[in-house]
Amino acid sequence: MSEEVFAFNADIQQLMSLIINTFYSNKEIFLRELISNASDALDKIRYSAITEPEQLETDPDLKIRIVPDKTNNTLTIQDSGVGMTKGELVNNLGTIAKSGTRGFMEAVAAGADISMIGQFGVGFYSAYLVAERVTVVSKHNADEQYRWESNAGGTFTLNPDTSEAIPRGTKIILQLKEDQQEFLEERRLKDLCKKHSEFIGFPIELMVEKTTDKEVTDSDDEEEPKKDEEEKADKDEAAKDDEPKIEEETKPKEKKTKKIKEVSHEYEVLNKTKPIWMRKPDDITKDEYASFYKGLSNDWEEHLAVKHFSVEGQLEFTALLFVPKRAPFDLFENKKKKNNLKLYVRRVFIMDDCEDLIPEWLSFVKGVVDSNDLPLNISRETLQQNRILKVIKKNVVKKCLEMFAEIAENQEDYKKFYEQFSKNLKLGIHEDTANRTKIADLLRFNTTKSGDDLISLKEYIARMKEGQNSIFYITGESKAAVSTSPFLEGLRQRGYEVLYLVDPIDEYMVQQMKEYDGKKLVSCTKEGLDLDDTEEEKKQKEEEKARFEPLCKLMKDVLGDKVEKVVVSHRISESPCVLVTSEHGWTANMERIMKAQALRDNSMTSYMVSKKTMEINPTNEIVKELRNKSDVDQSDKTVKDLIWLMFETSLLTSGFNLEDSSQFASRIHRMIKIGLSIDEVEGDADEDLPPLVDTPAADTNTKMEEVD
Ligand code: ADP
Repeated sequence: MSEEVFAFNADIQQLMSLIINTFYSNKEIFLRELISNASDALDKIRYSAITEPEQLETDPDLKIRIVPDKTNNTLTIQDSGVGMTKGELVNNLGTIAKSGTRGFMEAVAAGADISMIGQFGVGFYSAYLVAERVTVVSKHNADEQYRWESNAGGTFTLNPDTSEAIPRGTKIILQLKEDQQEFLEERRLKDLCKKHSEFIGFPIELMVEKTTDKEVTDSDDEEEPKKDEEEKADKDEAAKDDEPKIEEETKPKEKKTKKIKEVSHEYEVLNKTKPIWMRKPDDITKDEYASFYKGLSNDWEEHLAVKHFSVEGQLEFTALLFVPKRAPFDLFENKKKKNNLKLYVRRVFIMDDCEDLIPEWLSFVKGVVDSNDLPLNISRETLQQNRILKVIKKNVVKKCLEMFAEIAENQEDYKKFYEQFSKNLKLGIHEDTANRTKIADLLRFNTTKSGDDLISLKEYIARMKEGQNSIFYITGESKAAVSTSPFLEGLRQRGYEVLYLVDPIDEYMVQQMKEYDGKKLVSCTKEGLDLDDTEEEKKQKEEEKARFEPLCKLMKDVLGDKVEKVVVSHRISESPCVLVTSEHGWTANMERIMKAQALRDNSMTSYMVSKKTMEINPTNEIVKELRNKSDVDQSDKTVKDLIWLMFETSLLTSGFNLEDSSQFASRIHRMIKIGLSIDEVEGDADEDLPPLVDTPAADTNTKMEEVD
């Protein structure tokens, strides 16, 4: 009569046709998704009834019912949850797309499994895996009953519904596709509920057919069926097509009676609703945990690790924490939910996005926390100040760390864990001062000596050289890039092991983690690298310093404010020179990372971009020869030219960017010309190169061997 027709949002329309048209055999997951939605709706009404008990009055019986109907080929899933108002039906089921709508389609295009649908928050549409038409009848306390209906052809209809009044909640009627009738079979439905929905916290009732043998007297049928009241009610309500199937039987003695098979319908509860976290850990199998985890997280794979514990005493709570096998697709996305722990108070679900339950760096941990002490009607605002919650959080973090340490006992598992969540641990080092040391125990790195293996800081310390007091590390873009860095030359030569820190977040992490187990973490690209010299070495250094003093001064004069100072160093043993940064400024790698952050405020840059110190290698032939030359003639233009080239090449080898690559290229080209004995044409000289001011190129004619 007053039917309204709505077009699906374009993304949702695309999603629906993907669900319908993709060849996908694991269609059974639709049931899990619809039951999970029903359970959420029940959680919502129970939660709102904490403050407004009258909300429950419309139907105090919180449950989910599944009704297969072979006559009409429909499967109905009904809940007495919160229901949807007319507006919610329109918005939630078709006109407003969530970020997960596109996310899911992209994931599927990239090869993800359709069963991941729940993780993207669009589980409802999985109904179209098995149904050609879906009808949603819903009654919310604040609105009339409405009927939403769609056969996925781009639109849905909405009607006021007067057919069969439901007190409150939602009834989803699936008109099954021709080839999906298996989902009407009792056995199949029972198995599915056991497999995917065993730990739903509300009773799931399946309407089943019962056949009973009954003796009746031949002549009459006045005998009342011996069924209890409840069963009878259910039978009357649900089973309209109950025709007793009568079977004649020859009775030797009593000719007057006959046996009939009576078919009745009744509801059978499929799940145990005692929450799994309230059971004793010893009585719970791994499969049960896995099954609960899958229901909780919508993950299709089982968990990597689980921690189930209770805290007793002044404060009482129980928690069940899981580490997934993989990081979610939106792990570090800003807008997403901050955590994945569900908060319960005395078995009643309160919320699943309580920010003060677990720190952000642990946002990948999934699970349940059930407190005995928090008040049921706690609000979001009061939760923030709540002291009990603070203690719970502290304990949850402690247990997570224990759980990770347990994973680390199995190398293979830990490798998986570390690949997925090392960034979180590093974020933890940055954020969680109190647990820094424990988190640091969990870190693993490639090193100059570890090959493809990752080692812990403990292992590093255990194999440190005698007398070594620092943990050396180098930061950079990749393992390949840092492993050939000139900064490692001196350390390698002396047999020191160096950690490779090649994750961008490592830079932030080492800013916070200054030491481990009493050993200072020392960057080998920064100033102040103390190589624990012997007395003899120290003496030798002093001597060299004096010898190279004039060259250092000359180099500083030539390079001006491009470098803070020029010094002799033993950090390098082969290359002629490197550029090191100040101890508290950015490394070259950090400069690179910061420049890559498009939306960054640049005002900090000038403070943090380090002054560079040029360190020269007194044993390098180029450096030695330069010293000789500058001894002879301080104003030798070739010397200046070469100093600039050395500066620019060490910018590159030290991990910086060339500010002006064309100038550098011109200098190199000129060197090539010299190498090829090509004379510069008058006026073709590089007067556009400021640092070379009055250097006529022809002068450098014979100096090629020094650059080679
Ligand atoms: P999700 O449940 O992950 O949010 P869905 O696509 O499964 O995504 O459902 C969309 C929305 O429709 C839900 O967020 C909820 O608001 C509403 N909804 C779905 N099923 C029910 C139900 N049985 N009762 C009440 N609301 C429901």
